[in-house]
Amino acid sequence: MPIYKAPVDDVLFLLTDVFQIGRYDNLPGFSDASPDLLEAILREAARLCEEVVQPLNRIGDKEGCKRHDDGSVTTPKGFKEAFKQYSDGGWMGISAPPEFGGQGLPETITTIVNEFLCSASMAFGMYPGLTQGAIAAILTHGTPEQKQTYLPKMIEGRWTGTMNLTEPHCGTDLGLLRTKAVKQGDGSYKISGTKIFISAGEHDMAENIVHLVLARVEGAPAGIKGTTLFVVPKILPNADGALGARNAVACGSIEEKMGIHANSTCVMNYDGATGFLIGEENRGINAMFTMMNEARLGVGVQGLAVSEVAYQNAAAYAKDRLQGRALTGAKFKDKAADPIIVHPDVRRMLMTMRAFNEGARALVAWTALQADITHRSGDDKARQAADDHMGLLTPVIKAMLTEQGFANTVMAQQIYGGHGYIAEHGMEQFVRDGRIAMIYEGANGIQALDLVGRKLPKDGGRALQAFLAEGAGRWPRRGHERQARHRPLLPGPHAARDGGAPRARPIRRGEHDGVAGRSILTPSFTESRG
Ligand SMILES: Cc1cc2nc3c(=O)[nH]c(=O)nc-3n(C[C@H](O)[C@H](O)[C@H](O)COP(=O)(O)OP(=O)(O)OC[C@H]3O[C@@H](n4cnc5c(N)ncnc54)[C@H](O)[C@@H]3O)c2cc1C
Repeated sequence: MPIYKAPVDDVLFLLTDVFQIGRYDNLPGFSDASPDLLEAILREAARLCEEVVQPLNRIGDKEGCKRHDDGSVTTPKGFKEAFKQYSDGGWMGISAPPEFGGQGLPETITTIVNEFLCSASMAFGMYPGLTQGAIAAILTHGTPEQKQTYLPKMIEGRWTGTMNLTEPHCGTDLGLLRTKAVKQGDGSYKISGTKIFISAGEHDMAENIVHLVLARVEGAPAGIKGTTLFVVPKILPNADGALGARNAVACGSIEEKMGIHANSTCVMNYDGATGFLIGEENRGINAMFTMMNEARLGVGVQGLAVSEVAYQNAAAYAKDRLQGRALTGAKFKDKAADPIIVHPDVRRMLMTMRAFNEGARALVAWTALQADITHRSGDDKARQAADDHMGLLTPVIKAMLTEQGFANTVMAQQIYGGHGYIAEHGMEQFVRDGRIAMIYEGANGIQALDLVGRKLPKDGGRALQAFLAEGAGRWPRRGHERQARHRPLLPGPHAARDGGAPRARPIRRGEHDGVAGRSILTPSFTESRG
């Protein structure tokens, strides 16, 4: 049985020592997250993930989801109960606005909890992940009535969300989509068409499923600029919010697939289903991007999550499995052989994975803090700087963390030798589960196009310049600035011979501690304190 221990201490070190989260307490929700509360939340999330969700991961893989003749879908044994525990614990809405029943805590905390959840079971973590993306889209683009109708129930976890973009002939190129929307006299629309590969499209864990569907209104221009976003609930809510009539949307089949068996990947048939406009007609892709950007960061986190759990198991196995002797002589003389962790090649693989996981987690936490500034700061400049950071790093996090995260699952499998290839130890499941993250939410080649084609040149390269300046910010400025730009970021072994190359000035305690000093990692932050 695979093991998992949530890296709570690593996260606390990152948030308190590296990013000094206390300096963000001018942002709404941050002052509520005192160090004690933060630790208590993370330890409770760890308990839920380690004790409730993780034991379901193998069962979920073996049983998978089942579709029945009436179109209903059952999730594997234990999933429904675990999801109830997740919802009852208020985890869906820890960062959602209090006026809709959320706890208003930093989104950074949700991002971290989502890592724990996806390490415990990536298939399970997708159900709340998609719901949180749909909540974000409705929050940003929905009408006040839509917010009142959908958000409290979704934040409570009684209703879940989905994202319906893909059609049989259209995946990357969403401008080709054909799902049709016809306006009705009462302002609603009739939605008809087929969506495929819809994660969590049908299941038995929630009372209702809120589909966000991209479709084309009759007469709309061709291409992506003719797409519109709709909310299409599985069961239509009555005026008082209670569940009403069944809508004309149904799961036609579920896919048999390589991994994440416990997440239902559905063909969804819309047969004149009632839908309601979100945002404006023909601007659907803008609204959908709110959800997609959330989802892209979430998918990057999945890459880190599978990498972490695969690493933890490989490290434990490497300490246990006895094969061969250390090159420097026997380490366990009383045993027939040394544990494989003594071998340099095994150490190389373990250290590669661990270094990646720790660095990736820091990158994710830093970017999640920028998301909080983007959504919560009252300072326009700070918000813009944080938004630039998010835009620039979203494709990087999505592609790099999923690409290397998958490579790490293969490395962890390698450490098990043949025992990693058979199902017994669960390593091959991590490989199978982790593979999809490189494909969905924009295949990784598309992330590269987004970074190079859009994000780097955007606004004359403003985001990139700010990002590079942030790295250079640790160097002395003014007189030395010109030279410093041509020097390596960290003084190397030849620095002393470099003819007086500018050295990084030691950072004095307190110097970077707040309003008076420059922030170490986020120059924009001091501005956001207002
Ligand atoms: C398990 C699973 C769950 C999913 N969940 C959802 C979901 O919840 N909602 C949803 O809407 N969709 C979902 N998808 C769909 C997923 O997002 C798409 O599969 C993905 O976006 C790629 O689309 P495609 O499969 O049609 O590939 P294609 O678009 O046909 O692309 C095939 C290959 O060509 C490359 N390519 C395409 N166009 C270009 C270009 N212009 N330049 C360079 N390379 C290009 C792609 O990068 C890719 O490598 C899911 C898919 C799977 C398998």
